[in-house]
This record gives sequence, structure tokens and C-alpha cells, in this order.
Amino acid sequence: MKKFDLNFLAEIFPNHTDFINQEIHEIYRDSREKVNHGLFVPIIGENFDAHDFIPQAIENGAVAILSSREELNDVPEGFPVFYVEDTIEALQTLANRYRHLVDPIVVGITGSNGKTTTKEIVASCLATKYIVWKTKGNLNNHIGLPLTVLSMEPNCEVLVAEMGMSGFGEIERLSHIVQPDYGIITNIGESHIEYLGSREGIAKAKLEITAGFSQNSVLIYDGDEPLIAGGSRPYKELTCGFSENLDYVIRDVRQWNDYTEFTIKGQNVEIPLLGKHQAKNSTFAYALCEELEIDLSKIKNQLKQLQLPSMRFEQIRAINGATIINDAYNASATSMIASIDVLKHMNYNNKIVVLGDILELGEYSEGDHRRVGESIDSSIDQVLTIGADSRFILEGLNDTFEGTYQHFDDKSALTEFLKEQLDSETVILFKASRGIKLEEIVNELI
Ligand code: ATP
Ligand code: MG
Repeated sequence: MKKFDLNFLAEIFPNHTDFINQEIHEIYRDSREKVNHGLFVPIIGENFDAHDFIPQAIENGAVAILSSREELNDVPEGFPVFYVEDTIEALQTLANRYRHLVDPIVVGITGSNGKTTTKEIVASCLATKYIVWKTKGNLNNHIGLPLTVLSMEPNCEVLVAEMGMSGFGEIERLSHIVQPDYGIITNIGESHIEYLGSREGIAKAKLEITAGFSQNSVLIYDGDEPLIAGGSRPYKELTCGFSENLDYVIRDVRQWNDYTEFTIKGQNVEIPLLGKHQAKNSTFAYALCEELEIDLSKIKNQLKQLQLPSMRFEQIRAINGATIINDAYNASATSMIASIDVLKHMNYNNKIVVLGDILELGEYSEGDHRRVGESIDSSIDQVLTIGADSRFILEGLNDTFEGTYQHFDDKSALTEFLKEQLDSETVILFKASRGIKLEEIVNELI
């Protein structure tokens, strides 16, 4: 990160002990970490209050701390303590100041599905022109986002930040932290609907990404979704999708077993990812790159070589030459239907879907699982489910489905069942919520 000193901190957090000025080189929250010139930010969690670990942090190299606890024992005389109301809020305030200190172009990405994927696509395309820093993994919440910002190197030219949420006001808060120059809304699904009431509610919550916009910020979004369609908004908008009259219309999608081809504005584009949703995610990146005047040939070349993080529609060669698609990172009804749709267009004799529960759906759970079932037609050969509510997928199976189906109560029985069928004509898609850990089965088959 870009070094700053304690005087910089003192300007932001004026209530502090007397200190001798020195530099901060990293900001962190885990007292067990060995650091050099670290600022320790103790966070109060559900099970622990990290203020209890301040002595350990100091022992491991912290040179200053933020604290919302007023009475601190075990802190040496003269040790720099910056007293704050709430350490998480302070971390966010500091992140916002640091954002301006480094001052990159900031791209914020939200949406129900496809945030991490789009983040990776955008970051790799922008890296053809800029020094890019991006959210690590899925650190997209009110703590992960500020830590992402605070770990930017001083030479960073673009920050690509994933912004997640489960309720109203959260994206607004994240947007105020990073103040995006570009905001991307990938889609509106139904994740967290139990907290947001309806898809309209979800759309409203995602649009909070504009809360921290400046006059020149640009919103890039799924133009196929009427719930976020624009009107007279005070900033520039770019729409991407399959409908006519959008700014970036995707046409002529052709999906092969290991890549997808399509056109955007008459340009042929090829991505080593499968499905229309990935064509759309790539188009957000394309639109953004065009805004930033990156050479078209460079963008197309980069899109052709994309690599995604694991467990996101990851294709793996399994025992006996069977193909496994590990998409077990997470799921919502929308993303499950999108993945099944990709499988429908693949060329194999035996197409199996292994579907586990989609969690956190509350009263919508039965309906959403049934909706997944309805999307499964005769192009799929076998549907295997595991978990409590995934049974509703089988109950909702489309009338046109002609294959076989079976519900399993435990992973080992399902694993044994699958082992019998592995051959080069077979493809198996694994998808469920993170909590189901379907990758445990995948690992037995490869
Ligand atoms: P999380 O909320 O867990 O952070 P995310 O929004 O980051 O999720 P990804 O991890 O990128 O989403 O993708 C999750 C799954 O969503 C993918 O495996 C894919 O099946 C599906 N998906 C990706 N993009 C889209 C899209 N534009 N529309 C619908 N489904 C999508
Ligand atoms: Mg994510």
C-alpha cells in the first residue's frame, strides 16, 4: 500500500494518545498476523471482540491501533491509540480517504449473480492498459471492501471492486466508500429476497451503487432487465444485453463445448467461457473498455484468453475421461437455470445435473426450486438432487423432460452412483449453494 504516517491518521481521527510520528505500511484485522509497521483495526464480531487481542497485535508488530474501547489495559505507555466510535466505520472512513490518496479509476461491480466473474473479466481486460488492483476472491462486504481498498499499491491506476449485499443500505455504504467512476450492475436475480421483499426491492438495492457517483460517473448494466431500465438519471448510462435498442447488443451467440462466439456492434468476439450469461458479463467489460478507449483488438484478444477462478463453471477431466463441470461455488435459482442452459447446448450423450439446495430463500424456497425444475427439458438426461429443498426441483420437472431422476440423502451414495457412469460421453454439472459443499463429491471423481 501507499505509506502514510500517523499525522495523516490523526487528521481523520483526532481523538488519540500522544505519539511520536511514524509510517504505516499495512492495515489489517487479524492480530495473529506478523506485520511490519502495521495499523491494527480490532473488529467486534459475533463471537469475538478483537480489542481483547490488542496485546497480541502489538507483540506481532502493530505500531498503532484504532480502538472503540476506551479503557485499554496492556497497552504500553506512549503507544499510539486512535480512539473511534466504531472500528468498522473508521476502517471505511480511512478506506475512503485512502481511495483519494491513491486516486485510481474506480470500477464498482454489483448484481445478484456474476459479480466475481465480471470482476475477473473486467480486471483482465483493463490490465491490457492499466495497473489494476481487484477484490481478492469474494471479499465484497463492508469489511472486505475497505480492506481491498487499503491494500492498493501506490501505483494502482484502476481499482475493480466487487460489492455484495444482503439488505438495503449496504451497497449505498460501499458506494460511498469507493465512490465509483464506473458502476456495473450485472443482473437482478432473487438472492436475498427474504430481506428485500421482492425483485423490485432487489433492483432498488443494486441501484444504490450510484449513491457515491460523481457527475462524470457512468452506470453500465443489464439492459434486458426492465427493473433497472433508465430514465432521466443524472449520469451517463450504457446498457448491455440481447434486447434491441441497447447500447451494446449481443447477437449471433454460438456456443461450443469449450467456448462461446458472438458479436457486439458487429465485432466478432470469442470467449473461453460458456453461455449467454458469460457473453453478457463480457459485454460489460467490452463497454467499459471502449469508454476507456482501449484498443478493440486488445480487448478481443484478452477476452479470448480469459481464465476464471475455480468452482465457477470449471471444466475438469474426471475418471475414465468423463467431463465434470464444477460450478459448486454458489447458486441462486437464476444462476442454476443459467448453468443448466449452458449444459443443454453442450454436445454429450449423457448429460447429468447434480443439484443441491439453494439456501437463504425463506418462503420463496419451494417456488424457486420448482422454477429450476421447470427449466429442465428433454436435452438433459439425468437429474440428481441432494439436500432438503432440492426435492422440489424434481417435483417441478418440466413435462417435456424424458430422462431419469433421483433424490439422494447423502453424498457418499450419490458419489458411488456417479462413479458407475463415468465415461467420455458423460458430462456432469455440479451446482448448489456454498454451504452444501458439492465439491466434496467432485474431489472423489477426479
Ligand atoms: P456471490 O454473491 O457469491 O459473490 P457473484 O455475484 O460473485 O456471487 P459469481 O461467483 O461470479 O457470482 O457467479 C456465480 C454463478 O452465477 C456462476 O457460477 C454462474 O452460474 C452464474 N452467473 C454468472 N453470471 C451470471 C449472469 N450474468 N446471470 C445469471 N447467472 C450468472
Ligand atoms: Mg462473488
